[in-house]
Amino acid sequence: MDIILLGPPGAGKGTQAHRLMEHHGMRQLSTGDMLRAAVKAGTPVGIKAKAIMDAGELVSDEIVSELIDAELTAMGPDTGAIFDGYPRTEKQAEILDGLLAKHGRSLDHVIELDVDEDALVARITGRYTCANCGEGYHDTFKQPEVEGVCDKCGSTEFKRRPDDNEETVRHRMQVYRSETAPILPGYEARGIVSRVDGMAAIGDVTHAIDAILG
Ligand code: AMP
Repeated sequence: MDIILLGPPGAGKGTQAHRLMEHHGMRQLSTGDMLRAAVKAGTPVGIKAKAIMDAGELVSDEIVSELIDAELTAMGPDTGAIFDGYPRTEKQAEILDGLLAKHGRSLDHVIELDVDEDALVARITGRYTCANCGEGYHDTFKQPEVEGVCDKCGSTEFKRRPDDNEETVRHRMQVYRSETAPILPGYEARGIVSRVDGMAAIGDVTHAIDAILG
């Protein structure tokens, strides 16, 4: 089963993708994570992408689509894909259709996380992750049980994304509205879009998504 998680930055796509990986053995394909790894590794793609990402703009459709193509090739046909942060433009949605056909796959669900943008700004600007295992935390909503120690792996190193400041977040939301939201009608016409209340508690959002996946 292949699904797209759609929603503005901070809607909880990454959090839900991690939970779906655990519950359903699916694989998260996050172009944001792939790009951040490329930036960290200093690859040509990473060098090109860094300033664009820091400004909250979109990296080129070709670059992100090549990353997705490579992942689909590597993971093989039997593992379900959770597209997280891709596609983000009408062009990417079109390219994804071609990639899925090429890899003998098809899209089962597009799940839109419905959220309140002002609340999201608070959510995003307080978030951070374990630098070792990637577990997500939040200054207000989800502190580690022992201060400064990751619940999951015990690491004491945490990190914040450079693009998680208010100005960039507001810009990323505007980019979501103008570039990404327009891909929805095409999927709606295929009858594969479901909406979930993304402001609900993390576990409730997961239950709602599980119910859609069946
Ligand atoms: P994310 O982690 O999904 O919020 O992505 C972080 C940043 O990476 C975005 O603000 C973009 O600069 C870039 N990015 C991630 N995915 C895409 C994509 N599908 N298309 C273009 N740029 C992307």
